[in-house]
Amino acid sequence: MLKIAIQAKGRLNEECVSLLADAGIKASSGSRRLISQAKGFPMEILYLRDDDIPQAVAMGVADIGIVGQNEVAEKSLDVEEVMPLGFGACRISIAVPRDADYTGPGWLAGRRIATSYPVILRRWLDEQGVEAEIHEIAGSVEIAPAVGMADAIFDIVSSGGTLIQNGLREVEKVFPSEAVLISRPDLDEERRGELDTLCFRFKSILDSRGMKYVLMNIPESAVEAAVAILPAMKSPTLLPLTLEGWYSLHVVISEDHLWEKIRQLKEIGAEDILVLALENIIR
Ligand code: ATP
Ligand code: MG
Repeated sequence: MLKIAIQAKGRLNEECVSLLADAGIKASSGSRRLISQAKGFPMEILYLRDDDIPQAVAMGVADIGIVGQNEVAEKSLDVEEVMPLGFGACRISIAVPRDADYTGPGWLAGRRIATSYPVILRRWLDEQGVEAEIHEIAGSVEIAPAVGMADAIFDIVSSGGTLIQNGLREVEKVFPSEAVLISRPDLDEERRGELDTLCFRFKSILDSRGMKYVLMNIPESAVEAAVAILPAMKSPTLLPLTLEGWYSLHVVISEDHLWEKIRQLKEIGAEDILVLALENIIR
């Protein structure tokens, strides 16, 4: 049986729980405990602080975990990144006071940088050949320049709103991150099999995200033009209607292209277009 560590509460918790639920793995309900037995899959779920997840997996307290790549890189422990999961996107960036005369990484030489990510920062500064003072702070890094504790910060950014609120300007995007599935490197064969099953389910869920199942009626004369407009996994499905000379065309389309494709399809004579949610794509 696999033990998975996920964040107990915070930005990653909800998406982790819903990804597991979509994969048919429901945490047994009841009061939030440190550990719970999953329903629908041989799995135990451990709820931890995100900082502790890489270590729990490296030590074998958990077999696998879901955590930000930022924490994986910062902890630099012996864990395998199995697959990115497409949520929790952010980056760790250097930011300086809005009106600082920042000219490039050399500007940081001899200056004080506040961060909760000293390992990733040290690595980047070394790559840049810059020597700076790293001040490790556990939280509220963004206020450090305003209170005179630092000249710059190295912190997580997603929309950039927090930086602006604190009079800061993002100047170097150093480390892009998203949530990843991690595993201890020494899984036995049985658990590796279970992990493969889990990855298969996650992949089919991620593949279907942002995709819609679209069906429409089209006259025979428009079939060729419709096929040219539509991308398809193999080729679109075409079913004859009982009405002579008409077909029902089924296809999976990315949400990004949906409305443009629908406009083109209407132009060539498609009617009664239905757009349906898609839960899984199993290849
Ligand atoms: P914990 O109590 O588990 O230690 P935390 O306060 O350290 O939680 P959260 O703020 O919940 O952590 O963030 C968890 C992860 O979410 C981050 O490590 C990062 O990978 C990701 N993330 C995505 N966007 C953001 C953001 N705007 N700010 C912070 N983290 C983000
Ligand atoms: Mg944390």
